[in-house]
Amino acid sequence: MGESREILEAPLWQPPSLIPVLPERPLPEQVDVLIVGGGYTGLAAARETASAGLDTLVLEAGPLGTGCSGRNGGQVAYSFKPSFADLSSRHGAARAHAICREAFAAISHLRALARVEDFDWRECGGFYGAHTARHFEVMAREAQSQPSGLEQRIEVVPRSEQHREIASDFYHGGCVYPDDASVDPMKLLLALLRRAQERGAAVQDRCRVQALDTSSAGFDVLTSRGIVRARKVLMATNGYSGALSGWHRRRVIPIGSYQIATESLGLERVRSLIPMGRNISDTRRVVVYYRPSADGERIVFGGRAALAERDPLACVVRLRSMMARIFPELSRVAIDHAWVGWVAYTFDTMPHLGKRGELYHCMGYCGQGVPLAPYFGMRIGQQMAGLAEGQTALDGLPFPTRPYYFGYPWFLAPSVWAYRTLDALGL
Ligand SMILES: Cc1cc2nc3c(=O)[nH]c(=O)nc-3n(C[C@H](O)[C@H](O)[C@H](O)COP(=O)(O)OP(=O)(O)OC[C@H]3O[C@@H](n4cnc5c(N)ncnc54)[C@H](O)[C@@H]3O)c2cc1C
Repeated sequence: MGESREILEAPLWQPPSLIPVLPERPLPEQVDVLIVGGGYTGLAAARETASAGLDTLVLEAGPLGTGCSGRNGGQVAYSFKPSFADLSSRHGAARAHAICREAFAAISHLRALARVEDFDWRECGGFYGAHTARHFEVMAREAQSQPSGLEQRIEVVPRSEQHREIASDFYHGGCVYPDDASVDPMKLLLALLRRAQERGAAVQDRCRVQALDTSSAGFDVLTSRGIVRARKVLMATNGYSGALSGWHRRRVIPIGSYQIATESLGLERVRSLIPMGRNISDTRRVVVYYRPSADGERIVFGGRAALAERDPLACVVRLRSMMARIFPELSRVAIDHAWVGWVAYTFDTMPHLGKRGELYHCMGYCGQGVPLAPYFGMRIGQQMAGLAEGQTALDGLPFPTRPYYFGYPWFLAPSVWAYRTLDALGL
């Protein structure tokens, strides 16, 4: 079934009609703020700097939606990878508490934005499946002993009841996070674009920044359409941070995340597989994430199907078999869309924002940027404008790198191989 059907190599949420072609305007000779990257981070920052009266120009190398912000899974959840205990051992309990509160603030920010902008915000909740009985015990215990002041609503679902969440015996029970949500990634990007433009920020797509040279007044920014002088520059390039700045490139690890959308299965069939319509993920180290499409007709399934494969079509078979391990009845289902994007991991699995001189950065969301990037983008924009509300509990955290890392993650292949082995052994 469906093997010879054509697969569209584009995100389900990027029908060509939705991608605006921004009118090409002459670039200004000089701006106060130049933002490299037109994803959630760059556009959210631009609204703040433009609101503060700073002449702001956003340059995006590709068409809008080229980066992760147009290609993600649209899942919104509490988003820092390190636990409170990990953060406490690194930074002390008080700072760790403040850091964790920032992740909650990011979700509240997006929820508030959804009240004034339409990007298909749905409070569908999330189900996290336990890959082993031991994982279930740990997650159930942690749900009962959340750090004080950082409690989330969590419902523990034993294996005997998990069919109310998912028609699969793949998991050993799990936890429901009723406050998790989903968005339409591209509509969120377009909302942030509108909000930046309405405050006067100029946004140009298909214009790559090729070099940044420091000058007495800030930067001479060489672009594919000429030179712009800028007082301040923001690197909002996340997993697409290339050779432009070696310092940043040495601190983010680009990792491919791959997704497929099934053919239309029909509302009833999708509902029979994921009855509550929630986002789903699980406790394996090599992560998978999936959910019903917004119209409820398809399943959108994503995960680390490869390490550096740039052709998403090459990963379809693997992703579909990962999906079929959970839903065996989908083993021969046709796939209509396949796509890939590059998320940015960091060596401490935390996002980072800050500056070196007048070169600012905000990046490294470790695959969790749907809530984090619009929020920290806003905060770095406020910092660039010198506003006190831009301060965050993450400010000043060292942004680590590793010896012999220059942007090519040579260590990923052995790590992912080891993680897959540990997952397969149920450890
Ligand atoms: C397949 C996939 C699924 C995901 N699913 C989820 C999810 O369900 N939930 C979640 O929270 N997060 C998810 N993410 C992560 C999330 O999408 C990102 O963290 C977030 O979009 C980052 O936004 P950003 O603006 O910082 O970066 P991006 O959106 O990646 O934008 C960076 C931009 O910089 C541009 N750029 C780079 N260099 C230059 C240059 N020299 N000149 C001009 N422009 C340049 C790039 O073209 C790119 O558009 C997913 C990511 C992927 C790829």
